[in-house]
Amino acid sequence: MSTRIADVLIPLALDTAYSYRVPEDLGLVEGDVVVVPLGTRETVGVVWGLSEGGGANLKAVSGKVDASRLSPALRKLFDWLAWYTLAPRGSALALGLRVPEPRPEVPRVGVRLTERVPVRMTAARRRVLEAAADGLTRSKRELADAAAVSASVIDGLIDEGALETLALAADPVAKIPDPGFGQAELSEQQHEAARAVCAAFHDAPPPVILLEGVTGSGKTEVYFEAVAEALRAGKQVLILMPEIALTAQFLERFAGRFGVPPAVWHSGVSSRRRERLHAGVATGEVQVVAGARSALFLPFEQLGLIVVDEEHETAYKQEDGVHYHARDMAVVRGKLEGATVILASATPSLESRVNATRGRYRRIVLPERFGGRTMPEIRAIDLKRETMPRGRFISPTLAFAVEDTLARGEQALLFLNRRGYAPLTLCRACAYRYECPNCSAWLVEHRFRRALVCHHCGHIERTPEACRSCGSVDSLVSCGPGVERIAEEVTEIFPGRRSIVLSSDFPGGAERLRAELAAVAAGEFDLVIGTQLVAKGHNFPFMTLVGVLDADLGLASGDPRASERTFQVLQQVTGRAGRGEKPGRALVQTWQPTHPVIAALVSGDAERFYREEARAREAAGLPPFGRLAAIVVSAAEREAAEAHARGMAQVAHPLPGVMVLGPAEAPLAVIRGRHRFRLLVRTEREVDLQCYLRDWLARCPKACGSVRAIIDIDPQSFL
Ligand code: ADP
Ligand code: ZN
Ligand code: ZN
Repeated sequence: MSTRIADVLIPLALDTAYSYRVPEDLGLVEGDVVVVPLGTRETVGVVWGLSEGGGANLKAVSGKVDASRLSPALRKLFDWLAWYTLAPRGSALALGLRVPEPRPEVPRVGVRLTERVPVRMTAARRRVLEAAADGLTRSKRELADAAAVSASVIDGLIDEGALETLALAADPVAKIPDPGFGQAELSEQQHEAARAVCAAFHDAPPPVILLEGVTGSGKTEVYFEAVAEALRAGKQVLILMPEIALTAQFLERFAGRFGVPPAVWHSGVSSRRRERLHAGVATGEVQVVAGARSALFLPFEQLGLIVVDEEHETAYKQEDGVHYHARDMAVVRGKLEGATVILASATPSLESRVNATRGRYRRIVLPERFGGRTMPEIRAIDLKRETMPRGRFISPTLAFAVEDTLARGEQALLFLNRRGYAPLTLCRACAYRYECPNCSAWLVEHRFRRALVCHHCGHIERTPEACRSCGSVDSLVSCGPGVERIAEEVTEIFPGRRSIVLSSDFPGGAERLRAELAAVAAGEFDLVIGTQLVAKGHNFPFMTLVGVLDADLGLASGDPRASERTFQVLQQVTGRAGRGEKPGRALVQTWQPTHPVIAALVSGDAERFYREEARAREAAGLPPFGRLAAIVVSAAEREAAEAHARGMAQVAHPLPGVMVLGPAEAPLAVIRGRHRFRLLVRTEREVDLQCYLRDWLARCPKACGSVRAIIDIDPQSFL
């Protein structure tokens, strides 16, 4: 008699699915989550394939797990992801597989008033009885809160029989959004765009839409209409956001439009809650999820729309484990599910722009700000022509403009994309520079914390009193500015003004940061000094001036996307100005006012920038006109890393259209004590990069000892 064989993919760094015999009494379907023996233990896996045939000597599947089945589309997504990133298929699966932990169901208990009167009456007890007088059943917590008493008061009343307990039905995992709840009145332009977006929703196959609108144009309202359309069609919606933990404003706007906030998915959500959401997404009970990139792998049952907000953001690229780009994977998932994909941005990635030009994406444009508001007027401050006071980073021209803005009761933002006080500390006596002991990087002074910190590995040490090298006292100098130093300068130049520094170092975590962002929006501060954290997404209605302290900061890096990134971040941050009633302006301090990025920003001619950038990338064969893969070889010893990287380069096949560059020591030569070498593979667009790499890697020497080689397809970081 023939047995059934199940090929089971296990969520570990394994590429092949293992075969198991299916016991006769076990009904299995592809996509089922099962328990199987692996070595000496049992592990969870997913049935990737089923077949009939021999295999009597195979180990048997131990059993089925009560978890949602993976749909064919989702399994294809993991296969695709592994194929594209060259990660083992099991590692790809691990990104999305969630097995409910066995936990005792804690029944929710409700309480209700009885006829019985408590023996002893107190003020607190009276408040409880009054709050419960309507005879409704409430949870203990709700009743205690309503009566402003502690839980023990409720317990006392239960003991005396004045309240009785009942089992409560479980809370729904997410509330149902109502597409007709609070539709905003759209501007003519928004209406036009919304109509186009909604129409596209019914195309077969549904398209990828690039929704491009200047900052403040009201893109969110436009894609909300697509969300409504999807809900009306009974479909689920996924909204990806780069920094979901900080988007309180977004959740409020969503609730304003649909009556309830969306289900939120990110690493800060408790694992119990995530388990419930995961299951609710699989049954279709959860209709809209707003999440970080990992939400991409949720088991949607009826996915109709994926929105990628701020699609140009680098936060969408996962930089460890499986190196995937969530925007690109969203497009893949959309195809597999037959879902519409909307990529929204004021400053789209060149990749998406080129895809639109090539006709692969449909481009919908909102060229003007909502409500007749104008774009901020942007001017460059040429630092070659300014006389900077010694030790200052705010030019007189900028200081004057800030003064003027504050005098009118408006807000100003000073932007510097550098955390801490100073990026370098050195000794004036012996020229010793403070470097991280684990990385080839300078330690950044954080003066509030009185510490020197490594931004790459987290190493932290107390700012020394005397030089570590020569022992001189009072000889340490802070070189260059970080936001904390600007804050110090601000207190000197604008005494008595309320200012706040906002960066990811902000103490108190996301919760406090959200509160402070709301305080800024409410006008409780005059001046904000911030990193890129404040550059995006936020609406500060009283902000009319944005000062960029060092526009050149990102331009010097060896990153092929340096210009694009700088353009995007400057465009976003200057776009914070003038979003309220009053028009805004931006002043940009630079040493190179004629640099194409600065010139395009000042002229407001984004089209020209994209054109020139596209031309330059095309000439250099860089993405999206060519393909790139990085290989980072690292090891505990420099020699071992270098030797392995060289060994790899030696067995690379020459092939027309393929260039293998390096190995070269990485710009960050050591991170966490590991020495790093980089190889870069650049191919023409027509070349099958994955195929080439697979073939090459199969012939490479095996990495042994501490040596690791990491593949990064379409790298976003070049450090
Ligand atoms: P973008 O994301 O394009 O930068 P937003 O969607 O944040 O722009 O919109 C900018 C501002 O305009 C927000 O404060 C938003 O509430 C407001 N807004 C946009 N469209 C409308 C509308 N149709 N009705 C009322 N307010 C709107
Ligand atoms: Zn370090
Ligand atoms: Zn010294």
